[in-house]
Amino acid sequence: MSQANKYYITTTLPYTNSDPHIGFATELIKADVIARWQRMQGKEVIFNTGTDEHGLKIHQQAEEAGLTARKYCDPLAMRFKSLKEVLNLSFTHFIRTSDEHHKKAAQVFWQRCWDNGDIYKKTYSVKYCVGCEMEKTDSELVDGHCPLHPNREVELIEEENYFFRFSKYQQPLLDFYSAQPDFVVPAHRFTEIKNFVSSGLQDFSISRLKSKMPNGVAIPGDDEQVMYVWFDALVNYISTLGWPDDLDNFENFWPAVQVCGKDNLRQQTAMWQAMLMSAKLPPSRQVLIFGFLTANGQKISKSLGNGVDPFMFAEKYGAEALRYYLLTEILPFEDSDFSEERLRQKYNADLANGLGNLVARVSTLLEKNNIATALVTDEKAAINILETESGLADYQFHRALQYIWQEIAACNEELTAKAPWKLSELTDIEAVLKPLATRILQIALVLQPFMPVTAEKIINQFTQTQIIKSESLFPRLGAETELQ
Ligand SMILES: [Zn+2]
Repeated sequence: MSQANKYYITTTLPYTNSDPHIGFATELIKADVIARWQRMQGKEVIFNTGTDEHGLKIHQQAEEAGLTARKYCDPLAMRFKSLKEVLNLSFTHFIRTSDEHHKKAAQVFWQRCWDNGDIYKKTYSVKYCVGCEMEKTDSELVDGHCPLHPNREVELIEEENYFFRFSKYQQPLLDFYSAQPDFVVPAHRFTEIKNFVSSGLQDFSISRLKSKMPNGVAIPGDDEQVMYVWFDALVNYISTLGWPDDLDNFENFWPAVQVCGKDNLRQQTAMWQAMLMSAKLPPSRQVLIFGFLTANGQKISKSLGNGVDPFMFAEKYGAEALRYYLLTEILPFEDSDFSEERLRQKYNADLANGLGNLVARVSTLLEKNNIATALVTDEKAAINILETESGLADYQFHRALQYIWQEIAACNEELTAKAPWKLSELTDIEAVLKPLATRILQIALVLQPFMPVTAEKIINQFTQTQIIKSESLFPRLGAETELQ
């Protein structure tokens, strides 16, 4: 069981069948805020992400490119990994499901489920969406297509496969949900999965015929079959900790807080939990189900041809501005629409005019009047604010930022109202500027999980004995492209 000063958070692993899109970038950024927030409270944090490189979709694309799946995924895995620098992320672990250690862990996991009597073989026929890498029942299809992948044909699979006894875990899952009332956030998603499990569970296929689809982990004791992509991919959450070899590390950090999109509800909160029960391992600590990011009301994805490129936006506006927009405008648990126009508005109003202007005005006046400050950081007070005054404890990132920006606006208003540039006595000028400098430093401290690089710049600047003005944090966006 994980120790009190240890914390483990993981994102889902996206398929490496295309470049990262803004929806996954948003998931990473939200997880990063939580990871930084835990570190701020003194915890040792493992923050895991990576790439899912098995399954039919990648197999088909690798074949078209004339490459092995691993080789096909190499440059894409590097692209996903590079998001760490591109988006100022702090993940500590990056796992590829094609890594040897992971494959070995998946085989040990399989063996444990097998030994527990939860794996058996049967012939079945099923409709399958390659986009989701999931089986689909007729009731889940719209006009014969997966609603998440309307441009893909649903495949008909008929073969003898191994199955996982999901049905056996209906009652254990329901008991577990009752015992852990905050297991799924938000509450309406928890209700959704409880209803799904209550309505009865069907065993699901966990293997594929190797002759048809070789891109998977080999099954212990059967050369004809490979593991179904979800079965091995879910095991990454523990293989990344070194399970089953490094049990000390596993026991220190497991169970995880897992974050995912709402299309992952069933896999993360039911299938994976049942698999853990079967392998006689503790369930996850909590699963956060984020809303979808949409562009014109549709889920953003490369397969729909409306992928919004996080690299391009980070390059154009900076990682910190992109993080700010995605955390303040995109609601954590509801669907939200991505809009570049809105990003530009928020940039100019909140970052250039709000925070950037406040820091520039106060630091310039302090330098001009030779006022020494010698401020010290009060990290404890900042933690207290984030815990009690803002919405961060409930993962309401936008509310926490609203709280911070109210304080920024109040500081700007006070500076304008008291107009120290009109005062002649140095003591009067100091009486206005020194408290404002203290408040700016406090703002920077609470800003750390959200905009880490900006926060660090301001903290460095405002803990100097003599604060001097610095380069503009957020230069106003050019007039020729300015929006009303
Ligand atoms: Zn689909």
